[in-house]
Amino acid sequence: MLKVEELTASYGRIEVLHGLSLEVAEGEIVAIVGANGAGKTTLMKTIAGVHPAAAGRIEYDGADATRLAAHRRVAAGLSLVPEGRQVFGPLSVRDNLRLGAFRRGGESDIAAMEEMFPILAERRHQAAASLSGGQQQMLAIARALMARPRLLLLDEPSMGLAPMIVEQIFDALKERHRTSGLTVLVVEQNVAAALKMAHRGYVLETGRVAASGSSEALLADQAVQRAYLGH
Ligand code: ATP
Repeated sequence: MLKVEELTASYGRIEVLHGLSLEVAEGEIVAIVGANGAGKTTLMKTIAGVHPAAAGRIEYDGADATRLAAHRRVAAGLSLVPEGRQVFGPLSVRDNLRLGAFRRGGESDIAAMEEMFPILAERRHQAAASLSGGQQQMLAIARALMARPRLLLLDEPSMGLAPMIVEQIFDALKERHRTSGLTVLVVEQNVAAALKMAHRGYVLETGRVAASGSSEALLADQAVQRAYLGH
């Protein structure tokens, strides 16, 4: 579904992704893990089309998407949940969901989102800014799902959240994957939680893929354990 080949991305003259390749097959949950500053956010922005690729190729659904405008990628079923949630604070939970619909989702999608995250139903008339961090993350994910994506890109959904909330969010995503076949690409610093949810993973180190494999293999890998799991 997604094929990234030899991708490079820069800020000015500073290159931060150095020829990175990865693939996501339809129906997979794939995690990209790595430390602070490894380039995870840049990678997600480049795949979503909000940061330009300097070189390389991004293929989505069999077609070249490297230079496709971001809104066209959304229209083609590729939605990003950005780092730091970025919900529309003054607007109600409901209105945030409606804004995510991108002319596709309707009232039935809102109902599905409220079933996925019941707290969003309870708080539907409340301003998004008044929600807790975890609730805002749920809203940000639900808002992205309102556009009925086929591939959901998640940028550090666990950031700043308690382990129990992270588990709740990841469980909801897994359930969505199970029931609707949603394909997920998630970048995370929380290596253990991400690999527990994902089928496969890539370890990103300073703009390069340092390792890849099944989640089980990566979790059992000594270098991964030492660097990211505190073993
Ligand atoms: P984090 O978890 O901190 O977001 P990350 O793995 O997502 O880390 P990126 O945010 O992609 O990493 O950053 C990769 C590199 O690019 C870092 O060295 C960072 O300092 C640099 N960088 C990120 N954004 C910019 C920018 N707008 N201008 C210049 N350099 C940037």
